Amino acid sequence: MIERYPTKKIYVGDVAVGGDAPISVQSMTYSDTHNVAATVEQINRLHFAGCDIVRVAVPDMEDALALKSIKEQISLPLVADIHFNHKLALIAAESVDCIRINPGNIGSKEKVAEVVKACQERNLPIRIGVNAGSLEKEFDNKYGQTAEAMVASAEYNIKYLEDLGFSDIKISLKASDVQRTVDAYRMLRPKNNYPFHLGVTEAGTLFHATVKSSIGLGALLLDGIGDTLRVSITGELEEEINVGRAILKDSGALPDGLNIISCPTCGRIEADLVSAVSEIEKRTAHIKTPLNVSVMGCVVNAIGEAAHADVAIAYGKGKGLVMVKGEVVANLDEKELVDKFVDEVEKMAGQE
Ligand code: SF4
Repeated sequence: MIERYPTKKIYVGDVAVGGDAPISVQSMTYSDTHNVAATVEQINRLHFAGCDIVRVAVPDMEDALALKSIKEQISLPLVADIHFNHKLALIAAESVDCIRINPGNIGSKEKVAEVVKACQERNLPIRIGVNAGSLEKEFDNKYGQTAEAMVASAEYNIKYLEDLGFSDIKISLKASDVQRTVDAYRMLRPKNNYPFHLGVTEAGTLFHATVKSSIGLGALLLDGIGDTLRVSITGELEEEINVGRAILKDSGALPDGLNIISCPTCGRIEADLVSAVSEIEKRTAHIKTPLNVSVMGCVVNAIGEAAHADVAIAYGKGKGLVMVKGEVVANLDEKELVDKFVDEVEKMAGQE
C-alpha cells in the first residue's frame, strides 16, 4: 500500500476526507441545479455508480433555494459550488455538507466572515478550489500561468480562512495542464496538512481525460498525495466514477476487486484471448475482494505470472491450464477454461 501524506481528517456529511479515511471519489451534476428532479436523478445515478461525494453548481438564488429539497431526496454528501455571491453561500450552508468557495472572490472580509460563521455553526468544511483559469489577478500578473501562481492563490485563501479562525479546509489546485497541476500539488503539499482534493480540470473527452487524469492523479497518488479526487470528463456521469475508481485501484490506493494481468498477445497466441479477458471482466465485475489474476495467451510467460497470481489461465493449443496460487487445478478444453477460472475466483472471493 502507498504511504499517504498525513493530513487532517475532515467530514463532508458522513464521509471522512483525509487522515486514514479511504480516498473518496467525487463528481458533479450538469443539470440546472434548480431543476430538482433532474438534479436528484443525476445524483442518484452517481450514487449507484459508486460516487462518494457529489457537488452541484450554485450560480444563482434559484439554485441556492433548491438545495434544501435536493438534500432531502438524496443520501450522498452534497457540496455547493459558489463563486462571487456570499448570500448564495449563506443559504446553501443551511442545507449542504460542504461549501466550495474561494474567499478571495467573495468580496469583503465581512462577507467571508459571515460565510465562515455559517459553516462553523453547522460544522461544514470549506473547499478552497484553486483553478488556473480563474486565478486572482495579482497572482496571474506576478507569476503568469504557472504552478507558483496556483500555490500563491491557495496560500492566500488558506490564510484568509485561518485568520478568521477556520481550519476545516480541503484544497484543490486544478489546471488543464497535467504538469502544472502535479507541480502545484507537490509544491503546496509540504506547506500544510489540509486534505487535498485532486483533479486535472477540463481534461476533455473520455479517452483524453482518462489519460491525463491517470498521469496526473496517478503520479500524485503514488507520491502519497491526495485524499479525495474528481476525474473531469466531457461525457457521461458514470464515466467519471468508473475512471476515478480505476485510477485509485491501479495506483494501489484502493484494494478493490480483480487486478487482471493479461498479455498483449503476439504471434505465439494459442487462443481468442481478447474475448476471454472481456468475458472474465464482465463476469467478475461484482467481486470486491482484491485478487491478482492472470490470463496469458501461451505458456511462454504464463507459468511465471501464474506463480504470483491467485488464479490464472495459461492457454495452450486448443486447451489450457487453470492454476490457483501457482498450482495446476485443471487441464481443460479451451471452451471450459473461463467457466472454471470464474468458479475458482468466486470461490476464493467467498462469493460462490
Ligand atoms: Fe505472446 Fe505468449 Fe507473451 Fe501472450 S504470453 S504476449 S501470446 S508470448
